[in-house]
Amino acid sequence: MKGLSDIVPPRQTFRNAREKAKTEIAEKITRATFIYLDPKKPKSEFAQCETCIHFLGDRCEWMSARDEVDDDDSCCFYVHGKAAAGTQPKALMTKKEMGFVSRQVRCENCCFFDNQTEPKEHCDLYTQLNLILPGVFALDRYVDHQGCCNAQTPGTRNPKVFGPFGPIQHGDQE
Ligand code: SF4
Ligand code: SF4
Repeated sequence: MKGLSDIVPPRQTFRNAREKAKTEIAEKITRATFIYLDPKKPKSEFAQCETCIHFLGDRCEWMSARDEVDDDDSCCFYVHGKAAAGTQPKALMTKKEMGFVSRQVRCENCCFFDNQTEPKEHCDLYTQLNLILPGVFALDRYVDHQGCCNAQTPGTRNPKVFGPFGPIQHGDQE
């Protein structure tokens, strides 16, 4: 059976690797690329259709009038707010194109959310992308449990999903 040292290489190894990784892209990718949003009230319904400016009761402004949408659905085009009176479906995109899902989203329901192993709640995905590709990503990894982003993924937390190059120990970086 593998021990932790088989899964997580020594911290010094990765610190050295980062110092050697001199090649960086011109503008590192931040969490804005994932459209991370801090929660707004009512926070327990944040990022669901119910609190989206594009929600028209049982339809979505971007979809066709044939597409049914419920208040507890969500998608990658969420914007907090309330639709203006008289707004009609515009039939501009499909559910598939919009990343439509019928489930509760937010960090608190995401397999990458971690509020157990460090003093501050954070995102494992952002943390590992920073460490595995330090020349590419500069993601603020501290998130709110009722915030959300477009990488939200259901499931149970399991750091082994960051193999074969992770999970990397990260006590030495922000
Ligand atoms: S499907 Fe997306 S854009 Fe449409 S109402 Fe729901 S969250 Fe908003
Ligand atoms: S925990 Fe999930 S939803 Fe939250 S920022 Fe990370 S990937 Fe996005």
